[in-house]
Amino acid sequence: MLGQMMEMPLTISSLIAHAERYHSATEIISVETTGERTTTNWGNVGKNARRLASALDKLGVALGDRCATIAWNNRRHLECYFGVSGGGMVCHTINPRLAPEQLSFVANDAEDKVLFFEPTFLPLVAKILPTLKNVQHFVVLGPRDEVATHAIEGLLFYDELIATGDADAVWPEVDERAASSLCYTSGTTGNPKGVLYSHRSTLLHTLVGNQPDGIALSAQDTVLPVVPMFHVNAWGVPYIAAANGCKLVLPGPNLDGQSILKLIDDTETTIALGVPTIWMNLVEALQASDSKLPSLTRTVVGGAPLPPSMIPIFADYGVELLHAWGMTETSPVATLNQFLQRHSTLSDAEKTALRTGQGRPLYGVELRLLDENGEILPHDGKTQGDLQVRGHWIAKRYYGKDTDALTEDGWFDTGDVSTIDEDGYMVIRDRSKDIIKSGGKWISTVELENIAIAHPDITNAAAIAAKHDKWDERPIVIAVKAANSTATEDEVLAFYKDKIQSWQIPDAIIFVDTLPIGATGKVQKVELRKQFGEHLIKQGKNDA
Ligand code: ADP
Repeated sequence: MLGQMMEMPLTISSLIAHAERYHSATEIISVETTGERTTTNWGNVGKNARRLASALDKLGVALGDRCATIAWNNRRHLECYFGVSGGGMVCHTINPRLAPEQLSFVANDAEDKVLFFEPTFLPLVAKILPTLKNVQHFVVLGPRDEVATHAIEGLLFYDELIATGDADAVWPEVDERAASSLCYTSGTTGNPKGVLYSHRSTLLHTLVGNQPDGIALSAQDTVLPVVPMFHVNAWGVPYIAAANGCKLVLPGPNLDGQSILKLIDDTETTIALGVPTIWMNLVEALQASDSKLPSLTRTVVGGAPLPPSMIPIFADYGVELLHAWGMTETSPVATLNQFLQRHSTLSDAEKTALRTGQGRPLYGVELRLLDENGEILPHDGKTQGDLQVRGHWIAKRYYGKDTDALTEDGWFDTGDVSTIDEDGYMVIRDRSKDIIKSGGKWISTVELENIAIAHPDITNAAAIAAKHDKWDERPIVIAVKAANSTATEDEVLAFYKDKIQSWQIPDAIIFVDTLPIGATGKVQKVELRKQFGEHLIKQGKNDA
């Protein structure tokens, strides 16, 4: 016997329709590429999104067609999120910092029909234009600009385009299993691979990801997604914010510590989300300012390991750091570090230790660990193995491929090496391509970095494997010193003593002015390995 309840499709248009209907006046503050701050609201975003969907329909863009964006976090990009997907097309967010050839690769791979881009990217788009095989409409995200019209024939302007759309347009009916958005992985090795989300997977991620033990945004929050909208749908925040009527602050292109600090204070942001480097830069800016971050209560940190030393620093400002883990293939939120009831009696130090891990799975996500022979490992908090995942919002296959990207029994292999305890708390020990194998034994680069960053004179650090004749690989740490610091290599090496076993202590500390940071704010270890992988051999320190 079937149940007798209504069945309404889980579509992205239902999110914006809700926000437009019930949170119309709730503000959205947007930092434009020019640096200007503008204020709109969910009512206007909803109306413009419906206009955009209708304008694209009039242009002949069909259901399922891919429409790409090359844009920062701002109001027009938000309208594209809902207008494109809500209108039944696929919103393909492209990372503006990709190399031009990778940019053309992803646009051609996705067969993008429409390309929306910030005015500042006009020269870039004009340059790659001859290589773009499928794009029929180029749209500048702004008002008409006569000078720009000379750069690309038939160039459209977003503000004019939406004016051609019908303000009374209603959202089309779309199958909840239809594709809604497309994101490519960074492609640190080989070409980027596309992950094609569906309305259903996005809605389930929105609903479950925002449980009280999830991201937990409410209509009382002012939410700042520093995580870019071109990176895994800004961790789903635009959708969650629409479903819950949150006030949104979209930070535009300037994500340095000072700009973010000013934005948080000016807009009274209550919760912000981003990768650890953003918060490390914020700490530096904070220490140089009088601000006490009065409005901020929480940040969600993910995308790379959260250095534990940051937890007490932010606690002094009354800010809770919530560690989350996921990947492009997992929509992305899969685990979050929220406590259980019995953790309330833990000491601050014990709580910090627990917080260092990546947390436990949301309902709808299952995790398991395997050894190198494919044997399933215990969840005892100690045994380390390859992390595999399955669930309602986990990718099955990459875009354009003929075969699934899963194990024979239907799990997705994450490429991360972790432990999981009896309660499901997972700790990422390393990425399998970064972990160091020294004399047949594993050394976690995450652990080495956490210790370096806890040194008062070190602002950022990355551990990599350097080639070694005797041990195959030995750890070295590339570190950035605080301004005016006189710390020496020996001092930093001494800091490792008694914190890890002696054979795990790095063989060298190399000081640099900055670490190479990739397009999504993560340290690029591939670059560091290219630059410093032979360091010990070159220094003649490779046989002891
Ligand atoms: P990429 O980093 O390759 O560009 P993703 O953005 O999809 O691609 O990142 C996914 C990877 O980021 C994960 O497999 C994991 O290695 C790392 N990651 C994500 N969140 C965390 C976290 N909280 N702690 C440690 N590593 C993380």
